[in-house]
Amino acid sequence: MDAVTKQTADRMTASRCLIIKIGSALLVDDTTGEIRTDWLIGLGADIARLKARGVNVVIVSSGAIAVGRTHLGLKAGALALEQKQAAAATGQIRLAHAWQETLAAHDITVAQILLTPSDTEERRRHLNARATIETLLEMGAVPVINENDSVATEEIRYGDNDRLAARVAQMISADTLVLLSDVDGLYRADPRLDATAELIAEVAEITPEIEAMAGTAPAGYSSGGMVTKLDAAKIATTAGCAMVITDGKPRDALTRLEGGARCTWFLPSSEPMTARKRWIAAAVDTAGAITIDDGAVAALRVGKSLLPAGVTQVDGTFDRGDAIAVKTLDGRIAGRGLSAYSSSDARLIMGRKSRDIENILGYRGRDEMIHRNDLVTELSAAGAPEE
Ligand code: GLU
Repeated sequence: MDAVTKQTADRMTASRCLIIKIGSALLVDDTTGEIRTDWLIGLGADIARLKARGVNVVIVSSGAIAVGRTHLGLKAGALALEQKQAAAATGQIRLAHAWQETLAAHDITVAQILLTPSDTEERRRHLNARATIETLLEMGAVPVINENDSVATEEIRYGDNDRLAARVAQMISADTLVLLSDVDGLYRADPRLDATAELIAEVAEITPEIEAMAGTAPAGYSSGGMVTKLDAAKIATTAGCAMVITDGKPRDALTRLEGGARCTWFLPSSEPMTARKRWIAAAVDTAGAITIDDGAVAALRVGKSLLPAGVTQVDGTFDRGDAIAVKTLDGRIAGRGLSAYSSSDARLIMGRKSRDIENILGYRGRDEMIHRNDLVTELSAAGAPEE
């Protein structure tokens, strides 16, 4: 095994949370317009193997429009937006069914999640979608995600699942995003035009030179080819997630990747948690503030979450998911974080035990007022800042 091959194999083996994005061209036969069942069964076996090893797997699957247009008998050629939406509405059921059947053969539960950009771009909805995906993963299920094409309008669509998959990777702090594609990576020149074009095994930084290699998307491509893949790489790598493009055509594409198949790696620019916390620390406005007691300050110093019991005062008006300031009893800023509760609910549960939350609010929210993953501390009095 040469060094490049070994590195690919090692990175795949080390991955604990994998997002696998599957393009329509792989999943749907372009002559019959039907799902390639044999290919899917092969991929299902690969996924089952990863799950058995304890890896969290999330699928981002395209194909709803391609499958649906066949089923509705829509003719070849470009579709109008409403036709795409109708096609997606029919195709998505078939797609979900195919995934369910495939993974049920391995006793794996499949859960469908359809997202629109607002679900990933708005903090509150982002937190909500994240909690759902994390809960499903904890329960051993495989979330199968697609864009909610039937309701997304042209202006507010991703339109491609490369960027959607990268957003999902960022959302759940995945360590690896695998784009199963019909090409095996990024080439210095277009390999369809130049047979001697060289594949780039590793991209540490997406420079203008790298962007120039992606060229422009060939006409007719629904999802933009290499250009959107580089956009996805930027989102994923700045969130601390590695991204790899490899040929998804073989039935055992993931096994091959673990064996060191040809591919292009985009290396993460930082650790996921740091990137996430940077995002929180960079939140421009805080919508409000909470004051916490000395016990909670001590808990924060050792990296724990902030519980309602430690909160003594709530100021301002904020929603669940908004960035708020955290203050000590003497008014110093202890940090900032994303509140798991709105200001009105926070006022009701402050000073109370987490187990009483359900009785007080009538619903069972998070145990924490601010989860430690959503919290950046700025406690410097006892020494250097922690971040
Ligand atoms: N969401 C689209 C579908 O399921 C696919 C978008 C893409 O091709 O990336 O048909």
